[in-house]
Amino acid sequence: GNTTLTMIKPGAVRRNLIGPILGMITEHGFKVEALKLTKLSARQAAKFYEVHRGKPFYDGLVNYMSSGPIVAAIIRKDNAVAEFRELIGNTDPEKASEGTIRKLFAESLSHNAVHGSDSDENAAKEAAFFFSETERF
Ligand code: ATP
Repeated sequence: GNTTLTMIKPGAVRRNLIGPILGMITEHGFKVEALKLTKLSARQAAKFYEVHRGKPFYDGLVNYMSSGPIVAAIIRKDNAVAEFRELIGNTDPEKASEGTIRKLFAESLSHNAVHGSDSDENAAKEAAFFFSETERF
């Protein structure tokens, strides 16, 4: 698969990091295929993170992800899912490598600046969650 879905999470949008994060993404060779500033309702966030339902961090995650605007984007590069997960770094910013987006911009494990799809299948599902065909280029 050559596309993945990213979100710039509410904390990073609040801290005015849309530009720096999109800059890192494009500097690393990703092309933007779809892009929007939007806000998830609690219901939408709950659906997006359905696979985590029942985990101890689920309610906090849903609450956080619906706490303010996010940026959603479909980005394209060869081997996009793996390449992007390398660029964002470990889920926990304390474990993330130097130079990764989370190392640079995450506040904590739960407020970790960005999302990246974890498989081609989920990338396709998540892209369809945010974007219609006429919103993709
Ligand atoms: P994402 O799906 O956002 O790209 P990920 O695939 O690295 O992140 P997941 O395991 O899918 O991580 O968890 C989804 C999100 O839930 C994480 O990005 C993180 O913000 C939050 N999260 C995961 N584990 C914990 C935890 N133990 N405590 C608090 N928040 C967590």
